Amino acid sequence: MAGEVKPVSQSISSKSHAHDHHHDDAQSFVRAVEHASEERGLRLTPLRKEVLELVAAAGRPIKAYDLLDQLRERHGNAAPPTVYRALDFLLEHGFIHKLESINAYVSCHHPAEAHQVPFLICDNCSSAQEVCDERVAELIEAQAKTFGFRPQAQTLEVHGLCKNCRKA
Ligand SMILES: [Zn+2]
Ligand SMILES: [Zn+2]
Repeated sequence: MAGEVKPVSQSISSKSHAHDHHHDDAQSFVRAVEHASEERGLRLTPLRKEVLELVAAAGRPIKAYDLLDQLRERHGNAAPPTVYRALDFLLEHGFIHKLESINAYVSCHHPAEAHQVPFLICDNCSSAQEVCDERVAELIEAQAKTFGFRPQAQTLEVHGLCKNCRKA
């Protein structure tokens, strides 16, 4: 976990997003976010980074109170407001996504670019997969425009059963 970070090659964000996360993925994800933060002049404080690491290591959507529990196990003193502020920071800059329908957070697979994408959420194993296709967001934006509506946030969450759970 220690070890200062060498600049990471750009290839991380352009890699096809295989969605089964392993620990290595979590590590390289955190490095990609560090890199992106540096480039955008954002301050990834130790707490923000730690929250990010926990979200990434979870490998599936994780709820705020589970994050709090884990932080308390490590430090014994994680105050909810600070954790929520860290989550807000990560959300705001597109490093993680919030899945409103299950009230959980998941790391983003291309943290270098802010984007809004739909999610496929499995109701059985609660895995979440990003649908990496900009056309959906564009379509919603175009429709909103015709209604004179200005969207602030898009959260499109599709529930069902993932491939693995369908087989089981
Ligand atoms: Zn994403
Ligand atoms: Zn599943």
